[in-house]
Amino acid sequence: EGFNANVAAAESLNAFITATPDKALDAADRVDADRAAGKELGSMAGVPIGMKDLFASEGVQTSAASHILEGFKPPYESTVSRKLWEAGAGMLGKLNLDQFAMGSSNESSYFGEVVSPWRKQGSDAKLAPGGSSGGSSAAVAARLAPAATGTDTGGSIRQPAAFTGITGIKPTYGRCSRWGIVAFASSLDQAGPMAQDVTDCAIMLEAMAGFDPKDSTSLDMPVPNWEAALSSDLKGKTVGIPKEYRMDGLSADVAKAWDDGIQWLKDAGAEVVEVSLPHTKYALASYYIIAPAEASSNLARYDGVRYGLRDLPEGANLQEMYAATRAAGFGDEVKRRILIGTYVLSAGFYDAYYTQAQKVRTLIQRDFMNAFDQCDVILAPTAPTAAFELGEKTGDPLEMYMGDVFSVPASLAGLPAMSVPSGVNGDGLPLGLQIIGKPFDEQGVLNAGLALE
Ligand code: GLN
Repeated sequence: EGFNANVAAAESLNAFITATPDKALDAADRVDADRAAGKELGSMAGVPIGMKDLFASEGVQTSAASHILEGFKPPYESTVSRKLWEAGAGMLGKLNLDQFAMGSSNESSYFGEVVSPWRKQGSDAKLAPGGSSGGSSAAVAARLAPAATGTDTGGSIRQPAAFTGITGIKPTYGRCSRWGIVAFASSLDQAGPMAQDVTDCAIMLEAMAGFDPKDSTSLDMPVPNWEAALSSDLKGKTVGIPKEYRMDGLSADVAKAWDDGIQWLKDAGAEVVEVSLPHTKYALASYYIIAPAEASSNLARYDGVRYGLRDLPEGANLQEMYAATRAAGFGDEVKRRILIGTYVLSAGFYDAYYTQAQKVRTLIQRDFMNAFDQCDVILAPTAPTAAFELGEKTGDPLEMYMGDVFSVPASLAGLPAMSVPSGVNGDGLPLGLQIIGKPFDEQGVLNAGLALE
């Protein structure tokens, strides 16, 4: 009965695109066999997890929630998922997401929107689970999976975690291999875990991270034992509060949660100081040039020849086949990004937009480095509001983009950043706080997160 109830819940959330329960059961069998044989078990032994459908799964449809990749079964496994299987985890299925990870609400999926398991008190209105990792957040929040993978280009692990009351960390750029992850914006894309709490995230991130010669931007650094060094004692640590993040559009409930968080970190022994990130106001503009620019280049490979969908109208030549395939295969948001990306990279506008955005990116990185002269980690909201209703922002892409204001700066700077739950607002909806750390200092981020739990 419980199982059937779970299946019904799973169907109403639309969190999974493909279910692979046999793979999870196989992993459990392998653990039993290893245990019987007296072998040492991996850190994820027998844990059934959901995989965002952006990670290549050998022999299993990997769609990026797009029509253009529908039916694409990679002949290879992504490095991150291979590492998780080697650590003993098993795959429950492939999780829904915004198409090609472009979005903040999981409404741009070709396979339909994901519904958050949360409701406002006294309302039946369906809420967004956040995005792009909305299948991951909904599945973990609804206890359909103890943990799931996510990817974060401009907030796609942190914002869905905040919207659904779970924990998610985007490590330093380069910690997790991008090999076998469908590329959105390669200089920003990072994988990370989404789970119930900080400890589970630490364990899972350890299994996911590590140098990979197949990714030229992979960090050639040892993976620390983050779980073993977890500590919520922040004595001697300084937490920075960026004054520019107190901006218009920050909702009163989130501002209150932020103040509560500051107090909790003080209670844990931290000193709290104000810091300045003066270029914050240019972060969204810079991100929404750089990310589409890289996306337009990365998505050129979907041409009807190499992967998935081919639309070949009667008598069409090669160019016409490309056009027909891309017209049918990409959703509106993906087309919007390709158009913006090709525009800002075009000869006439490259310097005015793309070069300028890259310069701003450098300034944003410097802002953080200056702030980290004064503090060990930064505490900020993850998103300016709690979860919004499905359909509320789909008519206004710019308003949707504005919700990423607190998550894109850490992405542009390549910094580790985590969202942890910080209670509920007056409507009973979860809120999240974000901790941003120095490069490679996932430990500092995890420890501050633990102090907030
Ligand atoms: N919401 C942001 C966007 O639409 C970030 C998405 C992501 O991190 N993949 O680009």
